[in-house]
Amino acid sequence: MKRIHNPEIEQYALTHLSDLYNIRQQRQGIHLSTVIYCLTRAYFDFTQYIQPTEEEVMLFALGYGLQDVLTPQEAEAPVFEKDGITYSPDFMLKMDDTYFEIKTTRMSIDKGYLPDTWIEYIMGGCYIRDITEYELVVLYMMGNWKPPFPKIYAETLKFDQEEILENWNRIVTRRNVLKGSLNCKQPPAPKLWCKEFECKYCRYKIVCDAIEIGGTSG
Ligand code: SF4
Repeated sequence: MKRIHNPEIEQYALTHLSDLYNIRQQRQGIHLSTVIYCLTRAYFDFTQYIQPTEEEVMLFALGYGLQDVLTPQEAEAPVFEKDGITYSPDFMLKMDDTYFEIKTTRMSIDKGYLPDTWIEYIMGGCYIRDITEYELVVLYMMGNWKPPFPKIYAETLKFDQEEILENWNRIVTRRNVLKGSLNCKQPPAPKLWCKEFECKYCRYKIVCDAIEIGGTSG
């Protein structure tokens, strides 16, 4: 037997996956996730969009693909909006009058926590939908990694009005920072408006490093 590496087919498969889930398409408007995640990155996405890396395409495609399989064809794709911020979860199930969001992760189920970005996003969704309880289904693709078998976990998250409002005020502040930066054509300062983990595989890292060395940002 001979095994011959075929980069051409790899590229074909990557393009197919990114086209299937519109991964390389530039997003328009301010979405909830735009202001939850790094604002510097959001600024660059609007002003000097760089195509996702191969790693990003694969990560998104795997997540989308799995969610797609889990989501029945009749599932809705609702779009909500408040204060100019759009909230359109990619995968939602509706049972009776309740929406369930499905998320996928490679994080271990044993960690027993939800990332801050998820909580902020979910509380933002609660504010926009005027609810205080959120139904979440998480597919842990690697289970607890011992061994790496997938597991599914569903839970109801309950919040009080105060924490939802506090979170929304933070979101609106972040939206204003982004809008201000876009108006004055000056990116928000790198690493000031993101969580530490976001920089590691970010496609704009080289741009941010250059800004930090040159000291040119808002
Ligand atoms: S490198 Fe970090 S600060 Fe810069 S855009 Fe990416 S996530 Fe944001």
